[in-house]
Amino acid sequence: MNRNETSRLINERNIVPKKSKGQNFLTDDRVALRHVGFASIESDDKVLEVGPGLGILTEKLIGICDHVTAIEIDRKLADHVEEVFGNRIELIRGDALSVEWPRFDRFVSNLPYSISTPVIFKLMEHDFKKAVVMVQKEFAERMVAKRGERDYSRLTVNMYYRAECRILETVPASRFKPRPKVDSALVEIVPRPAPFTVNDETIFFKVVNAGFLHRRKKIRSALRTENIMIPDSSIPFLDDRMETLSPEDIGKLSNMLSESGKI
Ligand code: SAM
Repeated sequence: MNRNETSRLINERNIVPKKSKGQNFLTDDRVALRHVGFASIESDDKVLEVGPGLGILTEKLIGICDHVTAIEIDRKLADHVEEVFGNRIELIRGDALSVEWPRFDRFVSNLPYSISTPVIFKLMEHDFKKAVVMVQKEFAERMVAKRGERDYSRLTVNMYYRAECRILETVPASRFKPRPKVDSALVEIVPRPAPFTVNDETIFFKVVNAGFLHRRKKIRSALRTENIMIPDSSIPFLDDRMETLSPEDIGKLSNMLSESGKI
């Protein structure tokens, strides 16, 4: 696939790319080949793709494994995928956020911008070997940020708790049609056990959310604002801001809060 071919398909199929559905189609076969290659797919792996669109990644996927499932929300694009790939893939027509995902080993997707966050959070609820996702560059930077960096965020801590994330390459906006305003990046996600112990994950994620929702406030005030009870005993880090704490420190804070039995 290249730019001309993408334009031809868009015209032939009478597709009006919708911003609301993040329909910026990749037009560079070399990027698509690298994207799929980074996922290290073995022939008996089950692969899930969200948003096959015109099928630039899908066609590479079916060339290397027999079990590809694709979830596409757009009727015209789903019709196209069905016509081109027939029964060589399992097509689920619907919203990736609401349909149930099948079991999969690898996840490959050029993610629609508007739903990157919820898709990534849904992805992380599953058990899989590796994901390679195309996301906006800024989003990729938030996924892999380190404490003290501007992009260190709720997303960073959530990802760090569950996986190793790495930016593999930046992909210029010129490689998509229509051309988005910003560049993208390919990110690798390899799940692993959390590198620190958390006694109660619900409390941990509540604390992470509260702290980053009010990142300029001291943690004491951020927790109070989100109605998280602070016991009287000596809890560490309450006078710090969440953005200065490492994920391990946030784990300690949430463990002390949960041990207090007050929340
Ligand atoms: N994979 C193609 C590519 O690389 O060119 C298309 C990627 S395009 C960035 C995003 C795709 O996701 C579009 O096909 C769009 O229709 C689809 N999409 C958007 N929202 C979706 C959703 N909630 N569930 C499933 N697919 C969705």
